[in-house]
Amino acid sequence: MWIDTHCHLDAPEFDADRAEVVRRARAAGVTRWVLPAVQAADFDRVREMAHGLDAAYALGIHPLYVDRADDADLDRLRDALRAAVRDPRLVAVGEIGLDHFVPGLDRERQRRFYLAQLALARDAGLPVILHVRRSADALLHGLRRVGTTGGIAHAFNGSEVQARQFVDRGFALGFGGAMTFERALQIRALAAGLPATALVLETDAPDMPPQWLYRTAAERAGGAVSRNEPAELPRIAAVLAALRGWSLEDTARITAANALAALPGLAAVPWHDAAAAGTGGGGRD
Ligand SMILES: [Zn+2]
Repeated sequence: MWIDTHCHLDAPEFDADRAEVVRRARAAGVTRWVLPAVQAADFDRVREMAHGLDAAYALGIHPLYVDRADDADLDRLRDALRAAVRDPRLVAVGEIGLDHFVPGLDRERQRRFYLAQLALARDAGLPVILHVRRSADALLHGLRRVGTTGGIAHAFNGSEVQARQFVDRGFALGFGGAMTFERALQIRALAAGLPATALVLETDAPDMPPQWLYRTAAERAGGAVSRNEPAELPRIAAVLAALRGWSLEDTARITAANALAALPGLAAVPWHDAAAAGTGGGGRD
């Protein structure tokens, strides 16, 4: 059993063949997944999709969407979290965070939305799913200031010192397609050297395609498609297994346990296969 802790199955890239994408994922053994929202306009759709696709979900405003969000979207998030308080498929607040890589964004507004969403997560007792891009120290500063219940630093790309600070605050770090590139020395060193309990797997589909799906900008301009999907997770996991010297079975077991520790709500999701096997699931669906 594989857990994709971060995939955007609601993205328009999947509109034409979502059912087929889901079928391929299940065939590959990816039977648990988390769908993080990126903007308030998508909250209903992400929730409905999580219920329809037997997934877990998170609600939040992504830093790249903050400039087009309005302040009332924070109220919408608070209301949506309240409305979902009895929904066992809601497992986190996310995707939230800070992006200090993309030029031209309003950093002060990002910071305000980040801190406000951290406080909503804290008040709801939910972990957070963080977007980290050139922003690890600023994110950590916010975590210290607001106080949170941990979660996942997704697509982690900071230094080892920063990684350990997230781990010390109870966070797991998400590893996915970026780790599959041989030139990604820093990310590979983290994947190989961090405590085993710190690692979770993710695709970030449709983004961050692994090396074997990567197409250059010129190829994409020529019409080549470079879309990641959850079915790629076991092959991405094989890269982690090789870096750690683990078997694939151990990699699945360890990363699944870590995902459950980072997002405890995953244990209460009424997964259809678990219900069918009589092995748990609340049946509140
Ligand atoms: Zn994402």
